[in-house]
Amino acid sequence: MGERYVVIGGGLAGLAAAVWLSEAGKNVTLLERRGRLGGRTHAMRAEIAQDTPDNGQHVVASGYEHLWRYLSSVGTRQFIEFPKSSTLRWPDGRSTTMQTTGLGALRTLFGVHPDAGVADRLRAARATLRLGWQALHQPADLANLSTEQWFERVGMPAPAREALWDWLALGIAAEPVARESAKVFANVMATGFRLGVKHRTPVTIGYPTVDLDTLYISGALKVFEERGVDVRYRSVARRIRIENGAVAGVLLADGTEVPADAVVCAVPNSNIGGLLDDLPEHPEIYAAADKLGYTPIVSTNLYLDRPLGTESAFEGLIGGTGVIDEVFDRQIMHGRSTERAWLYCLTTSGAYEQIHKSNDEIIDEQLALLSRYYPAAREAQVVQAQVVKMPKATFSQVVGTDALRPPQRTSVPTLVLAGDWTATDWSATMESAVQSAAKAVDLLLELRQ
Ligand SMILES: Cc1cc2nc3c(=O)[nH]c(=O)nc-3n(C[C@H](O)[C@H](O)[C@H](O)COP(=O)(O)OP(=O)(O)OC[C@H]3O[C@@H](n4cnc5c(N)ncnc54)[C@H](O)[C@@H]3O)c2cc1C
Repeated sequence: MGERYVVIGGGLAGLAAAVWLSEAGKNVTLLERRGRLGGRTHAMRAEIAQDTPDNGQHVVASGYEHLWRYLSSVGTRQFIEFPKSSTLRWPDGRSTTMQTTGLGALRTLFGVHPDAGVADRLRAARATLRLGWQALHQPADLANLSTEQWFERVGMPAPAREALWDWLALGIAAEPVARESAKVFANVMATGFRLGVKHRTPVTIGYPTVDLDTLYISGALKVFEERGVDVRYRSVARRIRIENGAVAGVLLADGTEVPADAVVCAVPNSNIGGLLDDLPEHPEIYAAADKLGYTPIVSTNLYLDRPLGTESAFEGLIGGTGVIDEVFDRQIMHGRSTERAWLYCLTTSGAYEQIHKSNDEIIDEQLALLSRYYPAAREAQVVQAQVVKMPKATFSQVVGTDALRPPQRTSVPTLVLAGDWTATDWSATMESAVQSAAKAVDLLLELRQ
């Protein structure tokens, strides 16, 4: 029968850990408290539109090395596309194209704002170089600064911030620049440079061309079936039982115990409480989980009776609701049929105000927002609308949190942690989740070498 490896949590971190442990020939049980896998990345059903949208639009960076490994393992790597450009729009009808490759990418970096004059562009170029330098050689006080303070310090001009940097920072850490930790942003920039140099190409943004279940779960289920991974749905883990410095089992909420010789604990910081009670350092980990807190994201899937007139797969709406909004055109992204409706997905990161509004209020607001940027939206009828409010979308990457993330290794060698909130060189992203799983699996496999 061999040693029993138990993975707690069927989000991306747990899925990747279970896939890779089973690839290594291990006997794996995956415990998931819900009736489905995927955690914070999953598809949903839109009955009226007869469609399968996602719980929130997810984009990927070309530097997501571990995510590519996962997609290769589950056979879905071909379902990611990298557009060469995207569009930024202003409410008065102005728009600009952001190039992500070649010389156009440099223009984007140094200021694509339609109002930016030569002096602004020169200032933006100088500030961008300073940012890059300081990301690689970080000033000692960076951890005490917000990203906004850092932008001010390097002299980033307002047009470049509006057209690129604030948007990028919000995308990276889902927090408005006034709250976001400059250190988190700098670390991700440094990782981006490292990967850019390694692969000799700048890091760009891509998107899935299929729904998230097809991308992440269908292939994993095939691997689990082939390799005999025991997936237990609605299994809520309560405590990892440790005896004589080694994992002995996982106690479930229903009072039963799953025997285990090794455990990957891949639950988010919001769910860690109680699970590690037997681990000597649990007070520090619980305290860090608590301090890391949460940031809200609100996603709206709007099915409209007509096209909006978007030019790119995803477009940034500048000067929208105070928070920068993005519109994803699923027709361009997925090549979906428009027989029933056109689907536009809107994501608001750092949605501290929106999260408290009713679904109807949010839908009205989003339609009003679209109407300011796309004339076609003013006449559009809503065929179906879904609002997904995630108050705990990711841990919060505000000033003072960067040193809190716990490592995957614990003082008990057969117990390892995974999840986007554990220590990795990415912010709270899918890459962080799978990178943490790769580290956790390596630690367990090293024990048996
Ligand atoms: C709306 C939205 C948009 C996002 N956009 C992006 C993006 O564009 N790009 C990007 O890279 N990232 C994005 N993210 C972040 C990304 O989704 C997460 O970082 C990643 O999915 C986290 O994976 P995880 O496995 O660490 O955690 P989770 O996905 O939360 O998985 C944890 C799993 O553990 C289970 N669980 C919890 N407690 C227990 C227990 N006691 N017993 C058993 N099971 C348990 C949960 O049910 C869950 O399935 C976004 C997140 C959201 C919410």
